Amino acid sequence: MRARIAAAERRFGRAPGSVRLVAVSKQQPWRAVEPVLIAGQRVFGENRVQEAEARWGEVRARTPDLELRLIGPLQTNKTADAVARFDVIETLDRERLARALADAVQKAGRAPRLYVQVNTGEEPQKAGVAPAETDAFLARLPAEFGLKVEGLMCIPPAGEPPGPHFALLAKIAARNGLSQLSMGMSGDFETAIRLGATSVRVGSAVFGARPEARPRAVQAR
Ligand SMILES: *Cc1c(COP(=O)(O)O)cnc(C)c1O
Repeated sequence: MRARIAAAERRFGRAPGSVRLVAVSKQQPWRAVEPVLIAGQRVFGENRVQEAEARWGEVRARTPDLELRLIGPLQTNKTADAVARFDVIETLDRERLARALADAVQKAGRAPRLYVQVNTGEEPQKAGVAPAETDAFLARLPAEFGLKVEGLMCIPPAGEPPGPHFALLAKIAARNGLSQLSMGMSGDFETAIRLGATSVRVGSAVFGARPEARPRAVQAR
């Protein structure tokens, strides 16, 4: 995966090392994750706060350079946990969550780096700020909540070419002075690198297919 990312950087005229690999370890058994950690990967993405804690709690204590990124939706009642456990939260997408995060950051005295998720495909079932509302939302974060945002994140609609969505995200970021773009997954990270991704979130292409998701009731810890 590192070689493929480096090749895409070369092919699309991106600076060497300008694209970070976020290895998405959600739902993967530890036997799939551990070799990747041992091979030197340090940035991992998880989509649930509880699952991340169960998997990374102890590892984190003995791996000071580990970077954990929350890439799944965050409920307001889990913000304190998320602020305590994640280095980066990529899914800030609404005012209530901004308020809860601001409170949690103040209480914890610890501030994860933040990305705003943009719903580039304007899918009703998907999280994220609508593209037309993103500029205004971004302007309010420092002004009203004292939150500093590092970049934007998107998940293009399944079954559509992702390129236009990545291009839209890049355009919104550029006009808001944001340099970081979290976009691209196993199937489309090279396209994302072509269009300016600074981090790609890759799961199955690193770890293999995720095991069939179990029902939530069974998964609860
Ligand atoms: C699961 C997930 C990924 C990784 O998906 P793969 O197709 O396995 O690479 C990336 N981003 C988000 C937000 C995800 O939920």
